[in-house]
Amino acid sequence: MGFLCKAFGHKWERLSNKCSRRCRVCGTTETIEHQWQLIEGQCAEKCTVCGKRRSIECTFDGCKCVRCGNEKHSYVYVDGDATDLQLCTKCGKYYLSRDLRTRSTEEGILDMFETLISLHGDILPQIILTDHIYNVIAYDVIAAKRQQLSEKEERILNLLYERGVQTKAIDDIRARIEERKKSRSLSNDEIRRQEYDANADEGIFHGGVRGDK
Ligand SMILES: [Zn+2]
Ligand SMILES: [Zn+2]
Ligand SMILES: [Zn+2]
Ligand SMILES: [Zn+2]
Repeated sequence: MGFLCKAFGHKWERLSNKCSRRCRVCGTTETIEHQWQLIEGQCAEKCTVCGKRRSIECTFDGCKCVRCGNEKHSYVYVDGDATDLQLCTKCGKYYLSRDLRTRSTEEGILDMFETLISLHGDILPQIILTDHIYNVIAYDVIAAKRQQLSEKEERILNLLYERGVQTKAIDDIRARIEERKKSRSLSNDEIRRQEYDANADEGIFHGGVRGDK
Protein backbone atom coordinates (compact mmCIF):
# COMPACT_ATOMS: atom_id res chain seq x y z
CA MET A 1 0.00 0.00 0.00
CA GLY A 2 1.43 3.31 -1.06
CA PHE A 3 1.78 6.41 1.08
CA LEU A 4 -1.24 8.16 -0.46
CA CYS A 5 -3.57 5.25 0.21
CA LYS A 6 -2.18 4.93 3.76
CA ALA A 7 -2.85 8.60 4.42
CA PHE A 8 -6.11 9.13 2.59
CA GLY A 9 -7.54 5.66 2.09
CA HIS A 10 -8.01 3.71 -1.18
CA LYS A 11 -9.89 5.23 -4.10
CA TRP A 12 -12.22 2.36 -4.93
CA GLU A 13 -13.63 1.64 -8.36
CA ARG A 14 -16.12 -1.13 -9.00
CA LEU A 15 -15.16 -3.62 -11.67
CA SER A 16 -17.94 -4.16 -14.18
CA ASN A 17 -19.79 -7.50 -14.00
CA LYS A 18 -17.70 -8.54 -11.02
CA CYS A 19 -18.35 -8.39 -7.32
CA SER A 20 -15.03 -6.79 -6.57
CA ARG A 21 -13.47 -3.35 -6.53
CA ARG A 22 -10.01 -2.00 -7.27
CA CYS A 23 -8.13 0.97 -5.94
CA ARG A 24 -7.29 3.22 -8.87
CA VAL A 25 -4.25 4.55 -7.02
CA CYS A 26 -2.44 1.40 -5.85
CA GLY A 27 -4.28 -1.37 -7.70
CA THR A 28 -5.36 -3.32 -4.60
CA THR A 29 -8.51 -5.35 -5.29
CA GLU A 30 -10.99 -6.82 -2.84
CA THR A 31 -14.28 -8.67 -3.12
CA ILE A 32 -17.52 -6.97 -2.21
CA GLU A 33 -20.93 -8.36 -1.33
CA HIS A 34 -22.98 -10.14 -3.96
CA GLN A 35 -26.42 -8.79 -4.82
CA TRP A 36 -28.52 -11.88 -4.26
CA GLN A 37 -31.87 -12.30 -5.92
CA LEU A 38 -34.18 -15.26 -5.46
CA ILE A 39 -34.73 -17.43 -8.56
CA GLU A 40 -38.40 -18.07 -9.22
CA GLY A 41 -39.50 -21.63 -8.41
CA GLN A 42 -36.12 -22.68 -7.04
CA CYS A 43 -34.43 -22.70 -3.69
CA ALA A 44 -31.51 -20.77 -5.12
CA GLU A 45 -30.34 -17.21 -5.51
CA LYS A 46 -28.36 -15.56 -8.25
CA CYS A 47 -26.14 -12.49 -7.98
CA THR A 48 -27.47 -9.79 -10.28
CA VAL A 49 -23.97 -8.42 -10.78
CA CYS A 50 -21.64 -11.39 -11.38
CA GLY A 51 -24.13 -14.20 -11.99
CA LYS A 52 -22.88 -16.46 -9.18
CA ARG A 53 -25.49 -18.86 -7.77
CA ARG A 54 -26.02 -20.25 -4.32
CA SER A 55 -28.64 -22.55 -2.90
CA ILE A 56 -30.75 -21.65 0.08
CA GLU A 57 -32.70 -23.78 2.55
CA CYS A 58 -36.11 -25.08 1.57
CA THR A 59 -39.17 -23.70 3.32
CA PHE A 60 -41.45 -26.59 4.12
CA ASP A 61 -45.19 -26.39 4.42
CA GLY A 62 -45.96 -29.85 5.74
CA CYS A 63 -43.84 -32.24 3.67
CA LYS A 64 -43.35 -30.00 0.65
CA CYS A 65 -41.17 -26.95 -0.01
CA VAL A 66 -43.31 -23.98 -0.96
CA ARG A 67 -40.75 -22.74 -3.48
CA CYS A 68 -39.06 -25.67 -5.26
CA GLY A 69 -41.53 -28.48 -4.48
CA ASN A 70 -38.85 -30.63 -2.84
CA GLU A 71 -40.48 -33.24 -0.59
CA LYS A 72 -39.30 -34.42 2.80
CA HIS A 73 -41.42 -37.05 4.47
CA SER A 74 -41.33 -38.73 7.83
CA TYR A 75 -41.55 -42.35 6.81
CA VAL A 76 -42.04 -45.35 9.04
CA TYR A 77 -42.28 -49.00 8.01
CA VAL A 78 -45.91 -50.07 7.95
CA ASP A 79 -45.56 -53.83 8.39
CA GLY A 80 -42.36 -54.10 10.40
CA ASP A 81 -40.02 -56.52 8.64
CA ALA A 82 -42.76 -58.23 6.64
CA THR A 83 -42.81 -55.68 3.83
CA ASP A 84 -40.78 -52.64 2.82
CA LEU A 85 -43.82 -50.38 2.57
CA GLN A 86 -43.41 -47.04 4.31
CA LEU A 87 -45.93 -44.41 5.29
CA CYS A 88 -45.39 -40.75 6.08
CA THR A 89 -46.72 -40.03 9.55
CA LYS A 90 -47.31 -36.39 8.60
CA CYS A 91 -49.09 -36.46 5.25
CA GLY A 92 -50.07 -40.12 4.83
CA LYS A 93 -48.09 -40.72 1.63
CA TYR A 94 -47.05 -44.33 0.92
CA TYR A 95 -43.59 -45.17 -0.35
CA LEU A 96 -41.77 -48.28 -1.50
CA SER A 97 -38.07 -47.68 -2.00
CA ARG A 98 -36.38 -48.75 -5.24
CA ASP A 99 -33.64 -50.14 -3.07
CA LEU A 100 -35.41 -52.79 -1.10
CA ARG A 101 -34.09 -53.71 2.29
CA THR A 102 -31.46 -56.42 2.13
CA ARG A 103 -32.83 -59.90 2.52
CA SER A 104 -30.80 -63.04 2.93
CA THR A 105 -32.34 -64.85 -0.07
CA GLU A 106 -33.94 -64.09 -3.40
CA GLU A 107 -36.90 -66.03 -2.07
CA GLY A 108 -37.16 -63.46 0.71
CA ILE A 109 -37.74 -60.68 -1.82
CA LEU A 110 -40.51 -62.69 -3.47
CA ASP A 111 -42.11 -63.39 -0.08
CA MET A 112 -42.04 -59.66 0.60
CA PHE A 113 -43.88 -58.93 -2.66
CA GLU A 114 -46.46 -61.64 -1.96
CA THR A 115 -47.15 -60.20 1.48
CA LEU A 116 -47.30 -56.70 0.06
CA ILE A 117 -49.85 -57.74 -2.54
CA SER A 118 -52.03 -59.56 -0.05
CA LEU A 119 -51.97 -56.76 2.55
CA HIS A 120 -52.01 -53.66 0.37
CA GLY A 121 -53.60 -54.62 -2.92
CA ASP A 122 -55.51 -51.36 -3.14
CA ILE A 123 -52.46 -49.08 -3.18
CA LEU A 124 -50.21 -51.16 -5.47
CA PRO A 125 -50.65 -48.88 -8.51
CA GLN A 126 -49.33 -45.91 -6.58
CA ILE A 127 -46.28 -47.63 -5.06
CA ILE A 128 -45.03 -50.28 -7.51
CA LEU A 129 -42.49 -48.87 -9.99
CA THR A 130 -40.85 -50.46 -13.01
CA ASP A 131 -37.70 -51.01 -10.96
CA HIS A 132 -39.71 -53.10 -8.50
CA ILE A 133 -40.81 -55.39 -11.31
CA TYR A 134 -37.15 -56.02 -12.06
CA ASN A 135 -36.71 -56.87 -8.40
CA VAL A 136 -39.36 -59.57 -8.70
CA ILE A 137 -37.61 -61.18 -11.64
CA ALA A 138 -34.49 -62.88 -10.42
CA TYR A 139 -31.25 -61.62 -11.88
CA ASP A 140 -30.45 -64.86 -13.66
CA VAL A 141 -33.56 -64.51 -15.82
CA ILE A 142 -32.60 -61.00 -16.83
CA ALA A 143 -29.02 -62.12 -17.47
CA ALA A 144 -30.39 -64.89 -19.73
CA LYS A 145 -29.07 -67.75 -17.64
CA ARG A 146 -32.57 -69.00 -17.01
CA GLN A 147 -35.15 -69.08 -19.77
CA GLN A 148 -38.32 -69.05 -17.78
CA LEU A 149 -39.85 -67.58 -14.70
CA SER A 150 -40.22 -69.61 -11.53
CA GLU A 151 -43.76 -70.43 -10.36
CA LYS A 152 -43.55 -67.81 -7.68
CA GLU A 153 -42.25 -65.10 -9.99
CA GLU A 154 -45.03 -65.96 -12.43
CA ARG A 155 -47.65 -65.83 -9.68
CA ILE A 156 -46.56 -62.40 -8.44
CA LEU A 157 -46.39 -60.93 -11.93
CA ASN A 158 -49.85 -62.30 -12.69
CA LEU A 159 -51.29 -60.75 -9.54
CA LEU A 160 -49.77 -57.38 -10.39
CA TYR A 161 -50.93 -57.69 -13.98
CA GLU A 162 -54.50 -58.47 -12.90
CA ARG A 163 -54.51 -55.26 -10.90
CA GLY A 164 -53.21 -53.28 -13.85
CA VAL A 165 -49.89 -52.53 -12.16
CA GLN A 166 -46.90 -51.92 -14.46
CA THR A 167 -48.44 -54.02 -17.23
CA LYS A 168 -46.17 -52.53 -19.87
CA ALA A 169 -43.02 -53.48 -17.98
CA ILE A 170 -44.36 -56.98 -17.40
CA ASP A 171 -45.26 -57.35 -21.09
CA ASP A 172 -41.77 -56.18 -22.02
CA ILE A 173 -40.10 -58.73 -19.78
CA ARG A 174 -42.27 -61.58 -21.09
CA ALA A 175 -41.62 -60.55 -24.69
CA ARG A 176 -37.91 -60.45 -24.03
CA ILE A 177 -37.88 -63.95 -22.50
CA GLU A 178 -39.86 -65.31 -25.49
CA GLU A 179 -37.50 -63.59 -27.91
CA ARG A 180 -34.55 -65.13 -26.17
CA LYS A 181 -36.04 -68.64 -26.22
CA LYS A 182 -36.59 -68.29 -29.94
CA SER A 183 -33.13 -67.01 -30.74
CA ARG A 184 -31.55 -69.66 -28.55
CA SER A 185 -33.37 -72.52 -30.28
CA LEU A 186 -32.41 -71.00 -33.62
CA SER A 187 -28.78 -70.91 -32.67
CA ASN A 188 -28.99 -74.49 -31.38
CA ASP A 189 -30.28 -75.51 -34.81
CA GLU A 190 -27.46 -73.59 -36.37
CA ILE A 191 -24.88 -75.41 -34.26
CA ARG A 192 -26.38 -78.81 -35.11
CA ARG A 193 -26.31 -77.99 -38.82
CA GLN A 194 -22.70 -76.92 -38.68
CA GLU A 195 -21.72 -80.10 -36.83
CA TYR A 196 -23.59 -82.11 -39.40
CA ASP A 197 -21.82 -80.34 -42.26
CA ALA A 198 -18.45 -80.81 -40.67
CA ASN A 199 -19.07 -84.49 -40.08
CA ALA A 200 -20.49 -84.92 -43.56
CA ASP A 201 -17.36 -83.35 -45.03
CA GLU A 202 -15.32 -85.92 -43.20
CA GLY A 203 -17.58 -88.61 -44.60
CA ILE A 204 -18.81 -89.80 -41.24
CA PHE A 205 -22.52 -89.88 -42.04
CA HIS A 206 -24.26 -92.52 -44.09
CA GLY A 207 -21.18 -94.56 -44.69
CA GLY A 208 -19.50 -91.77 -46.57
CA VAL A 209 -22.51 -90.75 -48.65
CA ARG A 210 -23.96 -87.41 -47.69
CA GLY A 211 -27.72 -87.53 -47.32
CA ASP A 212 -29.91 -85.34 -49.52
CA LYS A 213 -31.97 -83.63 -46.89
ZN1 LIG B 1 -5.04 2.12 -2.85
ZN1 LIG C 1 -21.82 -11.21 -7.31
ZN1 LIG D 1 -37.03 -25.86 -1.70
ZN1 LIG E 1 -45.20 -36.58 4.14
